[in-house]
Amino acid sequence: MKALKFNDVWDVRNIQVPELECIDADDVIVAVEVCGLCGTDVGIITGDYPVAIQGTTLGHESSGTVVKVGQAVTRFKAGDRVVINPTYSCGQCRMCQTGNENHCERKNGTEAGVSYDGTFADQYRAKESSLIHLDDHVSFEEGALTEPLSCTITGVDKLNITHTNIRACVIGAGTMGMLYLWSLHLRGVKAFMVEKNEHRYQFSLNALPEGTRVYRDFSEAMREEYGSDEEKLDLCVDTTGYLAETVFDRLAPGGKLLNVALKDSYAKLDILKIADKSLSVIGSIDSLNNSFERAYATIRDGQIPVGKLVSHTFEFEDYEQAFTMVGCNIQGKTQQPITEPNCKVLLKIPANA
Ligand SMILES: [Zn+2]
Ligand SMILES: [Zn+2]
Repeated sequence: MKALKFNDVWDVRNIQVPELECIDADDVIVAVEVCGLCGTDVGIITGDYPVAIQGTTLGHESSGTVVKVGQAVTRFKAGDRVVINPTYSCGQCRMCQTGNENHCERKNGTEAGVSYDGTFADQYRAKESSLIHLDDHVSFEEGALTEPLSCTITGVDKLNITHTNIRACVIGAGTMGMLYLWSLHLRGVKAFMVEKNEHRYQFSLNALPEGTRVYRDFSEAMREEYGSDEEKLDLCVDTTGYLAETVFDRLAPGGKLLNVALKDSYAKLDILKIADKSLSVIGSIDSLNNSFERAYATIRDGQIPVGKLVSHTFEFEDYEQAFTMVGCNIQGKTQQPITEPNCKVLLKIPANA
């Protein structure tokens, strides 16, 4: 079978590897059907997010079809369509025992697409407990959006939203930003979107809840929405990491800034204001408190039309083209601007031989 291996920064290759077998009794071998490209994959390839172990197969946002099951597996059989939760937690370590399963101390060696062979491959070895049955009416493509949606549900949970009339914005119309805006919408909060890249801006116009306003600039948005750039906001989700200081200065008393950008950068925040204005600066990553199952239910029930967020689907062998579409030029070993309207880019993995 084929697998897209991370060898080193800017060195990824689609190579032939042995077919997978069940090792533990609760293992399930899944033929991957669809796998989404994620900022994490790009960060690993470019070296901006140096977390992956060399030799690991990349990819973690996926759905597929069961091909083999271990002896103890009872809920799945060959032919079942499934969504794969790539995030492992042991339940035993101190982080798991304190409610931070997304920071499980035994993630090293177990995290799909980072330290455990992931889903940019013909097959993936899953645990029975990490799979969800895909309902007939949900496509593999839609199923592959479960993981990123799960991450946004984790973040929105942390915001403890009690009022729907708050002033809210989301910065960045990549997949995460789009899913954050939709997730807030489901909690009754109407946020506006800020996206400066023209191509992302254009794509977002037809993939957000009806009536959502999208701006190219944060100050312009504040003037248009509230009449002045000096006005204050109650909530901002920054998926870019670039606007932390700007937004922090615009937070109303009780305001919250949620940062979900995996960006190696620093911001200066006024400690006095944090106390005096009861501000919250919050971070969030990965799945927590059953968010993966809730994300799947949200997609299954059509509450978020995630299919609208898919801008491109490429064949597995054309992975370099797919990565170029999100600004990661593997051949040229360089990052480049996005040149087409886009959001979520998927790879379609061919049926196993
Ligand atoms: Zn991801
Ligand atoms: Zn743990």
